[in-house]
Amino acid sequence: MKSKQTVVVVGGGFAGINFINRLDEKLFEVILIDKINHHQFQPLFYQVATSQIEPSSISFPLRHIFKNKKNVRIRLAEVYAVNTDTNTIQTSVGEFKYDILVLAMGCSSNFFGNDSINQYALTLKTTYNAISIRNHILQIFEKISADINSREALFNLVIVGAGPTGVELAGAFAEIKKNVLPKDYPRIDFSELKIILIEGSKHTLGNMSQLAKTSSKAYLQKMGVEVHTETMVSDYDGESLRLSNGETIKTKTLIWAAGVIANTLEGIPPEWITKGNRIKVNRLNQAIGSNNVYVLGDMAYMETPKYPHGHPQVANVAINQAKNLAKNIKKITLGKKPVEYEYRDLGTMATIGRNKAVVDFPFLRLKGMIAWIIWMFLHLMLILSVRNKLIIFINWTWAYVSKDTALRLILTDNKK
Ligand SMILES: Cc1cc2nc3c(=O)[nH]c(=O)nc-3n(C[C@H](O)[C@H](O)[C@H](O)COP(=O)(O)OP(=O)(O)OC[C@H]3O[C@@H](n4cnc5c(N)ncnc54)[C@H](O)[C@@H]3O)c2cc1C
Repeated sequence: MKSKQTVVVVGGGFAGINFINRLDEKLFEVILIDKINHHQFQPLFYQVATSQIEPSSISFPLRHIFKNKKNVRIRLAEVYAVNTDTNTIQTSVGEFKYDILVLAMGCSSNFFGNDSINQYALTLKTTYNAISIRNHILQIFEKISADINSREALFNLVIVGAGPTGVELAGAFAEIKKNVLPKDYPRIDFSELKIILIEGSKHTLGNMSQLAKTSSKAYLQKMGVEVHTETMVSDYDGESLRLSNGETIKTKTLIWAAGVIANTLEGIPPEWITKGNRIKVNRLNQAIGSNNVYVLGDMAYMETPKYPHGHPQVANVAINQAKNLAKNIKKITLGKKPVEYEYRDLGTMATIGRNKAVVDFPFLRLKGMIAWIIWMFLHLMLILSVRNKLIIFINWTWAYVSKDTALRLILTDNKK
């Protein structure tokens, strides 16, 4: 009997874990390589950054997820390069050979070539980033309490990019400003604290419906967030933020949520790469120009009649491409006809704060409390383990009733 094929999967994000979970164990050996030892539930990073939930409740160790899968080996390593001629990848723990390679490495923040913003801005792409923001914000208030100079820069929290991440962060900061931080820092005058959201285009939540755009802006403004649309950021030196309209904002806190760029590897043929660094794939998620390299999720650029400019870079696309590919690889191996991927858009949503969310279903647009309950329910359903669902539910209920959380830990090694 022919030995099993080796499938190397790079990335244990939404695409990577769903692909492996559905792959036939009898036909394939899997090596999963990720530089982080856990799967991260990115949609709730902003709640970690604002001390509303613990990082552990949205982080799932990869070894635990696959503990019952005898065909899966896990390697904690960073992948640097691929050689599509020799079917090998180079990693921080050595070389691996593959029969089939599945790239699912997601995205990084895009600073559009501005090195100083890259150097000084905070981002929200990993659990570590979320903890860094939490540490930074709490340290800011410790500095304000200690009457350290440059108060204006300390009191201005600036978020750039009013997509779901920026909007959710701004709303969450506005809530902890009102309900939580004054309890910890009773001597600070929180009316001085400004939460500023800057967006280059005309609207907040620009990819959503008109109702979502106008309601999200109105909610944020009502919560005291300064929203500047049609404003571009031109530079930041860690202290002063320069805007394209010539204005300057003094700030020690710039959170960059203004764009993403797909992760890539040395050795990927340049002709595979298209806009946003994504890799061109056919309807089977196969890199165009290869017969054994597949690309999933945020990294994949697939044109279809319904999505002529590629799919949105969201969890639902990553999960469903992954499920489809797992079935297709088996079909291809058994000589059966694979099924082309078709995205079924189930909707988009964002939460702005307590009782405030917007939901765009294909057939219905909602805002307010009902939208907020739907948002919570669907996010709870997506969380991986029952235990974590419970922990988050308890945290949310406690926060709703008490208007407080007890998670404001600064977890950083000061010696560094
Ligand atoms: C803050 C935030 C909020 C979001 N909110 C939502 C939301 O509400 N709804 C929604 O649908 N989508 C949301 N998204 C988008 C969604 O998370 C992504 O579309 C989804 O994670 C893409 O899945 P993926 O598997 O392609 O990549 P990811 O889930 O990003 O996984 C990539 C994996 O690859 C690993 N990796 C990367 N490079 C290497 C390397 N060189 N070597 C080894 N490992 C590597 C990473 O460590 C990571 O584990 C959000 C994203 C962010 C950042």
